[in-house]
Amino acid sequence: MQEMHAYTEETEELAAAIVAYATHRIRMDPPPLDRTEPSSVLRERAGATITPEGIGGEEALRIFADVLAPATISTDHPTNLAYIPGAPTKASVLFDLVVGASSIIGAGWIDGAGAIFAENEALRWLAEVIGFPQGAGGAFVSGGSAGNLAGLVAARHTASTRRERPSRWRVATADHVHSSVKLAARVMDVDVLGVAHDERGRLTGSGLAEALGRDGDGVFAVVATAGTTNAGIVDDLAGVAEVCERAGLWLHVDAAYGGAGLLAPQVRHLFEGIERADSIVIDPHKWLFAPYDCAALLYREPELARAAHTQEAEYLETANAQEGWNPMSYAYHLSRRVRGLPFWFSLATYGTDAYRRAVEAGVRLGRETAEEVRGRERLELALDPELSVVVFRRVGWSAEDYATWCKRMLDGQLAFVQPTSWEGEPVMRFCFVNPGTRMEDVRRILDSMS
Ligand SMILES: *Cc1c(COP(=O)(O)O)cnc(C)c1O
Repeated sequence: MQEMHAYTEETEELAAAIVAYATHRIRMDPPPLDRTEPSSVLRERAGATITPEGIGGEEALRIFADVLAPATISTDHPTNLAYIPGAPTKASVLFDLVVGASSIIGAGWIDGAGAIFAENEALRWLAEVIGFPQGAGGAFVSGGSAGNLAGLVAARHTASTRRERPSRWRVATADHVHSSVKLAARVMDVDVLGVAHDERGRLTGSGLAEALGRDGDGVFAVVATAGTTNAGIVDDLAGVAEVCERAGLWLHVDAAYGGAGLLAPQVRHLFEGIERADSIVIDPHKWLFAPYDCAALLYREPELARAAHTQEAEYLETANAQEGWNPMSYAYHLSRRVRGLPFWFSLATYGTDAYRRAVEAGVRLGRETAEEVRGRERLELALDPELSVVVFRRVGWSAEDYATWCKRMLDGQLAFVQPTSWEGEPVMRFCFVNPGTRMEDVRRILDSMS
């Protein structure tokens, strides 16, 4: 039996094998796209892995490398254009190994000070990019979903201290808001006031004012999206902020995917007004090149969030009393991986200019792909891309045709792509975040559609 907590000769060998595997994977350019397998196949191939005596690290690593890893699609493959892919930098992935090795609990300053300091440096940079005032702050959470929930909880708590409780609390937002906002409303048992979007698909100040004027009872917050997941559309943030300020409503901006666009001069103007939000979520694990899971949640006035999210208990008294920043008090969480550290390390390593260039590359890929679509007889853009999502139709294709073609792309290891729908019609959707994606590959993929 192997000693679990002692660093033995066997551990030394395992360390070498694991570091070798990790560096091999990090070195791959490109990594294999890989595929999905049903559970029954994996059960047969992997065999029994959890046993009373253990199968040993070497064997477990072999099963991961030979059976499990090939059954997981690489989000960082340059022709993975489905959903919102990832493309972590080399330094961020390498440093993730260090974070894992360091046993840091990122809940409070009392034991996580150094790591939290570095995370806050990264948050501070994002706050500057947004144009938030000094004093803005927050925490890294697991994703946009967690950030949306936390922002709305802070919003409702703030409203509940300032106004009388309505019969039902409500959040105003447009239909294209991310599914996690609708789920957050359900979790919080609040209703959603639907706001009509304009002809370009955006939530606007006038649309919001109209909806609130008609039926604004109990509304405590508005959620605007800076880069919709389906089409990359940025809401009219300045117009929405104006109405929120007048009505005394909390503005939460979901920039989980699109927030990175703040760095790209070609599209920066679309975000005008974002600096007037009360809370914002941006996912570095999407378009800011950090490994999963890493979402930045920022509040204009963090004290409001702290009042909503602080946990009180005998065993937390010393932690809560400690001077310094307690990430645990800014979202619904306590124990926390310092998931902002790989992002911080990478920012420190390469500098913010490199980030700007890498985000610009995604915007450029989206635009060049739109040009390619325009130039092909059987392809049509559903709308002009704003950020790096391109939505288009193959004339004459049904939902089944899209599905068959997508399967063929993955079976041939050419691309991982997924269709979506636009105004009720099945369409194709590519999302670009990886600066390593090559237009020649995109052209080949488009060619296979005609
Ligand atoms: C991806 C996304 C989310 C959800 O983020 P997770 O990190 O997957 O939880 C929320 N909002 C928008 C706009 C997104 O694109």
